[in-house]
Amino acid sequence: MIVKYTDLENKTVLITGATRGIGRAIAKTLASQKCHVVFNYRAGKEDQAEQLKKELLDLGATDATGLLFDLTQYQQVKDALESFIKEKGPIEGLVNNAGISKDQLALRMKEEDVAQALDTNLKSQILLTSYLTKNFMRQKNVSIINMSSVVGLMGNPSQIAYAASKSGLIGFTKSYAKEMASRNVRCNAVCPGFIQTDMTDALDPKVKEHYLSQIPLNNFGESEDVAQLVCFLLSAASKYITGEVFKIDGGLYI
Ligand code: NAP
Repeated sequence: MIVKYTDLENKTVLITGATRGIGRAIAKTLASQKCHVVFNYRAGKEDQAEQLKKELLDLGATDATGLLFDLTQYQQVKDALESFIKEKGPIEGLVNNAGISKDQLALRMKEEDVAQALDTNLKSQILLTSYLTKNFMRQKNVSIINMSSVVGLMGNPSQIAYAASKSGLIGFTKSYAKEMASRNVRCNAVCPGFIQTDMTDALDPKVKEHYLSQIPLNNFGESEDVAQLVCFLLSAASKYITGEVFKIDGGLYI
């Protein structure tokens, strides 16, 4: 079931990590809401970006723009956003979705894995959002969604760096929500449980079975489930909600 949010029509929304998985589903849902969907892609993925742009336009996006940047390359991020804003105008909504998992037992955790997880999942989201803050302050009704995880709330063995990055996003969400509320900029966090994507496909079948046994609704989530929640949080239907943390996990956390 698709809920239409008319205030999203023509809104320019940036979503990171839309080349695959949850981000791609969010981009497609926003396209069907008639947004101008802006997404990033990494070097070497030009063909996929072109294909995604075409798909988004076919779905009804008023416009679709791919920006070439790796989230962890801050200068690249700034340059791409600066030229976009100059050329096409302000960004009115943001979904900090891109993320990586670096699963490893604490005993074997390597410095570079910790750095990569924290850089990609937390530092880059903070820097990108900070960079766009001046742009947000000039808009009305801006909404930001940070893609955290239930793992950031409940912890998980072999995921100390990932879990720390996702908990960190919640602190960032609440602080940014408090700091920016007077400018009518809202910021909320979404915590998916187990959603079927490349990230979870990579898990051992035994781990998947174990997760399934813990999920009261007894099935894994779909990226589209998360996309629907994100659309609600981007729209004015959630205009009195900020600094909140939404679990979408089939009851895993209960
Ligand atoms: P995914 O299928 O692995 O896709 C990750 C996306 O992030 C890809 O588009 C990837 O781009 C992009 N990305 C990663 N590092 C990047 C970087 N340095 N610069 C630019 N883009 C980068 O992941 P997913 O399962 O859809 O997860 C999306 C978000 O939801 C993540 O933050 C994840 O932690 C969170 N989450 C997922 C689940 C789940 O069950 N799937 C549960 C809880 C939370 P490339 O295509 O270029 O690699």
